[in-house]
Amino acid sequence: MDIFDFPSGREGYYGDYGGVFLPEILHGTIQELQECFRLCRKDEQFWSEYMEILKNYSGRPTPITHLPNLSKKLGGAQIYVKRDDLNHTGSHKINNVIGQGLLCKRLGKRRVIAETGAGQHGFATATMAARFGFDCTIYMGEVDVARQRPNVFWMQNLGAQVIAVTDGQKTLKDAINECMRDWVSNMGDTHYVLGTACGPHPFPEMVSWFQSVIGREARDQLLELTGRLPDRVYACVGGGSNAIGIFQGFLDHDSVELIGCEAGGLGVGSNLHAARLAYKDASVGVAQGFKTYFLQNEQGNMLKTHSVAAGLDYMGINPIFPHLWEEGKVRFEAATDEEVKEALRLIMKSEGLIPALETAHAFVTAIKEAPQMGPTEIILINQSGRGDKDIFTIAEALGDQEWKSFINEKSDQYRRELC
Ligand SMILES: *Cc1c(COP(=O)(O)O)cnc(C)c1O
Repeated sequence: MDIFDFPSGREGYYGDYGGVFLPEILHGTIQELQECFRLCRKDEQFWSEYMEILKNYSGRPTPITHLPNLSKKLGGAQIYVKRDDLNHTGSHKINNVIGQGLLCKRLGKRRVIAETGAGQHGFATATMAARFGFDCTIYMGEVDVARQRPNVFWMQNLGAQVIAVTDGQKTLKDAINECMRDWVSNMGDTHYVLGTACGPHPFPEMVSWFQSVIGREARDQLLELTGRLPDRVYACVGGGSNAIGIFQGFLDHDSVELIGCEAGGLGVGSNLHAARLAYKDASVGVAQGFKTYFLQNEQGNMLKTHSVAAGLDYMGINPIFPHLWEEGKVRFEAATDEEVKEALRLIMKSEGLIPALETAHAFVTAIKEAPQMGPTEIILINQSGRGDKDIFTIAEALGDQEWKSFINEKSDQYRRELC
């Protein structure tokens, strides 16, 4: 099954979700992007140039690692991890950003803009812009600028201009709106490097295509390593790009169960989470250029979301997922902040891996389910990123007193500098 053949005949729609909902002024720009992407998708040379850069600049193919200690401890399935944390800049985000950089060249544009929440996508975009020689502006909520100082530092030193957004909640959603405004005023020379598989068509398809490299590699590597396909594949779902990336290696194989793991935050009924499908709290709506399930109230105003993992803290979801969910192709679960902390401890001590807080959500679900599976069954987890960036949050979450006072002191200092 190829979801990108649009069997409904409606290009950019996955079942009832997706589409393009933009102000008329952007129609020409989005059409130009759609046409350019259509050509690139058919062009084998584009894909080989893309793979060449990923190989020599980012370190692909990333390996697959078997986790014998954790598998044994849990007493069930054999657990394997796809190591996208080993990419340059520390996560799968670089895949998408390099792809869009190449596309931007084909479009003949010389400036890129991007939104960022935790700063990981901004960091990756600034890196790509430095390498490709683009001007770069990153929009980031003022609250996030204060929380994510190290990423702001790197973005600026990579040559990007970082603009603190002071509208609304001053976080990711507001940064996206500000980015759209910039795009409207500078369409002629600017490409908007959207950071996940959300937004108007062609972004969900385009970002999924770039991230499909994860699934293609993983399927071949696991076959070579174990002689068979996995029984279950787990990935965390923020906007939903690393998950659709790895799932694309297995969508055609009905024997492989695909599990998306959302941010449960403070848990069911708390209203402080980002579990759109797993908690069934979200409803269908249109925002930020596309139609999907959003966490919103009855008036269609977006709700405040929460997760210990900034990268999962978003009210919308990749429009391909509600469709695959309704078709029974992907199951959705959620992990709470508490469960994530516990899982991190276990993974670090048993295998010496430090996954990002986002990734740990996928681990939680796999750890819960592995003991019920047989010893010849195989679990594959996508390790979307590494935890280095989370040192302050993890230290605080794990209750390290010495670090806690160090962090508080530092963040007070940053706050004072900002004022
Ligand atoms: C941004 C991020 C995510 C969430 O984004 P998706 O588009 O859902 O993949 C997950 N893991 C890491 C490490 C991230 O940086």
